[in-house]
Amino acid sequence: VDPEGNVTFKRVPSNKLMQSIQEGIRHSVSKLASEPERDVLFTDFENTEIVLHPEAGTKYTPAHNNGDFHFKTYAPIAFRHFREAFEISPDDYMMSICLEPLIEISNPGASGSLFYLTEDEMFILKTVEHSEAEFLLKLLPQYYMNIVQNPRTLLPKFFGLYCYKAFGKNVRILVMDNILPRRIKYHHKFDLKGSSYNRFASEKEKTKTVPTLKDVDFAEHYPGGIFLDNETYYQLMSLFKRDCLVLQSFKIMDYSLLLGIHNIDTDLKEQQGKGDDSQPGSPDSPQEDPTKGLGRTRSINRHRLAAMPRTTPEEEPRGGSAAFFRQQSTQSQAYDEMSKILAQAHIDPDVIGGAILGKTANGERLLIFLGIIDILQYWRLRKKLEHAFKSLIHDGNTISVCHPTYYAKRYQEFMAEKVFHPQVDPANFRLQDIP
Ligand code: ATP
Ligand code: CA
Ligand code: CA
Repeated sequence: VDPEGNVTFKRVPSNKLMQSIQEGIRHSVSKLASEPERDVLFTDFENTEIVLHPEAGTKYTPAHNNGDFHFKTYAPIAFRHFREAFEISPDDYMMSICLEPLIEISNPGASGSLFYLTEDEMFILKTVEHSEAEFLLKLLPQYYMNIVQNPRTLLPKFFGLYCYKAFGKNVRILVMDNILPRRIKYHHKFDLKGSSYNRFASEKEKTKTVPTLKDVDFAEHYPGGIFLDNETYYQLMSLFKRDCLVLQSFKIMDYSLLLGIHNIDTDLKEQQGKGDDSQPGSPDSPQEDPTKGLGRTRSINRHRLAAMPRTTPEEEPRGGSAAFFRQQSTQSQAYDEMSKILAQAHIDPDVIGGAILGKTANGERLLIFLGIIDILQYWRLRKKLEHAFKSLIHDGNTISVCHPTYYAKRYQEFMAEKVFHPQVDPANFRLQDIP
């Protein structure tokens, strides 16, 4: 915030920045529409395109009063292909991002990145550092090879990478999927890493309506963890295992699990307490009108858990926990239960995308939104030094800055043992049996 009280980023007024980004993306996407469809070539991962947007306008760009700027699109053809793979049409993409003003959301993180949410809640635009953008570009071919091989993933989906250039400043913007639809009321929101060192929300953060809590806070609020039906647990752990392997292979660390928890029973009680059966999102609740923009809502996150098809027998490993889980529950049972609960709680199934159902240790029913975020931090010298230094002072195990292999292992163990629990007797369950 500058002395006049205007929000700025790198001294660029935030509203000008936002409008310029919208115009930059609009132009980039419509220009791309004239490029013929073709397969992605390796060179597409390296190509960039830069366009000048002067205030006076050009033959190709409209006049505006946000100051002259350049707008760079990284790997335009490659990203177009990825958006197609996620079934996002150029029109939908453009409309989501450009039609309505973006909503600025506060970032509890330390990095100082700006976050914008599109009005229809489909996409998040995050400003990223130069090193993160470079890293993503390097990663892109392999990262998408993974997504194509394994569309069921908790990893973030990246739909575009851009750079706004003006006043001698570069602002790099990454477009990704939004994990937490705002029409849902979250009773808790967690950013979990599997480390306890320094992992609790600040007092300032806790004063927010829905603070982003951390690992230590999780243990406080969910001392017994979260219980999932066996098949959901089994599938979720298998996703963690695959995704962590990918991240580890890229020497990535410091990523989190973002967890948005809607407590169905608490919510029903709150509504009864108000003496009506109003829907979440009624005027006196902090949520927005639940029908707002619903017509435009599409679910990208069906690639996450909700669409988890029942594994075919050939795919399933033999014996061990897998066989045990198979006997315990079926996906269609879970699906039926989900539909019933959502109807009862007045939650639109379209909104919930990749959410899963769980229970607290007391049996309260939870609707859980989740995804892995912030994956562009890779192991480099700075981190190594930091680790060596911190290890001198603290027990090395509990520090969130450590080697990617160790980070991945600790992360998975934390999710499998502290955050989520299956309904089987733990004695019958072994983490190493997860495929
Ligand atoms: P730091 O590097 O300091 O940890 P950061 O600026 O890189 O922070 P992230 O860790 O990526 O930021 O995200 C910060 C917060 O923004 C998350 O805790 C979460 O509340 C929100 N957020 C990030 N990505 C998403 C997403 N894809 N969907 C919904 N919310 C998100
Ligand atoms: Ca983070
Ligand atoms: Ca970060």
